Amino acid sequence: MAPRRITDAFVRRVVRSRMAGKDILAEEGLYAVLCGTGSPLPDVHRAGPCIAVSAGKHFFIVDAGQGSTRNALLMHLPLEKADAILLTHFHSDHIADLGEMMLQRWTRSSSQTPIDVIGPAGVEQVVGGINLAYRLDTGYRVAHHGPETMPPTGAGGIARPFELPAEPGASVAVFDQDGLRVTAFRVDHRPVVPAVGYRFDYTGRSLVISGDTVYSESLLEHAKGADVLFHDALNAAMIQLVNASAALVNLPSAAKVTHDIPSYHATPEDAARIAAEAHVKHLILYHVIPPFPRLLKNLFIGDARRYFKGPLTVGEDGMRVFLPEGSDRISITRILR
Ligand SMILES: [Zn+2]
Ligand SMILES: [Zn+2]
Repeated sequence: MAPRRITDAFVRRVVRSRMAGKDILAEEGLYAVLCGTGSPLPDVHRAGPCIAVSAGKHFFIVDAGQGSTRNALLMHLPLEKADAILLTHFHSDHIADLGEMMLQRWTRSSSQTPIDVIGPAGVEQVVGGINLAYRLDTGYRVAHHGPETMPPTGAGGIARPFELPAEPGASVAVFDQDGLRVTAFRVDHRPVVPAVGYRFDYTGRSLVISGDTVYSESLLEHAKGADVLFHDALNAAMIQLVNASAALVNLPSAAKVTHDIPSYHATPEDAARIAAEAHVKHLILYHVIPPFPRLLKNLFIGDARRYFKGPLTVGEDGMRVFLPEGSDRISITRILR
């Protein structure tokens, strides 16, 4: 083949594989796909926290951490079909990609209405600010591609705040349709209030996403009997090393931040205690802090296995967790390598 034809064939193949891929949510059941498992500390292997959840004809994104849209697109997740984006709280690492997530959903769907962004009080401010920041971009796209492809009314998001009663263990159903129930419940990420986790129940299968929290009685209550618990995890000894290094290289603000963050994140051992006490079937750590090489995974989880005897997985970007309907099987596959 002439070099030009080889190049053309290669480009066509890459473009095709980027634009359309295998449906990784094809079978009937409940799915969670890890689009980001990292934290604000930069990690080449981990985007910021983001989990896509699919159940029947419904599809949700929980949090939109930095770089998570890119992972979602690489896995061909159907952003255009998303019912809503659910936010656990408004720390930057959970909303950094919200603008991109909303943009990709709009440009792929030609939707006439913005996507719902569901969250506790404060979500109006976050969504309003991002809508404003993207307003010029919206105008460019409408002008360039035309309003049929890019309906101006469909850009951005609509904030859907929910009310949570004041008590620490409070919860509220934020979606209940077609056999899928999504429940938001309080967790403890003080001084960030409110902060919530989400539980998904579908055809007898269930998964729980902690969001950011320390050991929380409310989470324990709402995780009871779940098939899978996704829990944040901070290794305090590793963070102490980061803290000492920050002080050594004279980065006082990094030293202060790494000194403070263990007070509002669970350790792997805390997550394991919750999983054991809630009789969860499988514990998956995500939103891991600090970054660590894959080889040190067992060091990262510390003594967690002493508390939780069931299967424990350290989540990685590109993992798909599948809970088939009518079965108690939990299957974990790596979609991104
Ligand atoms: Zn947070
Ligand atoms: Zn966070």
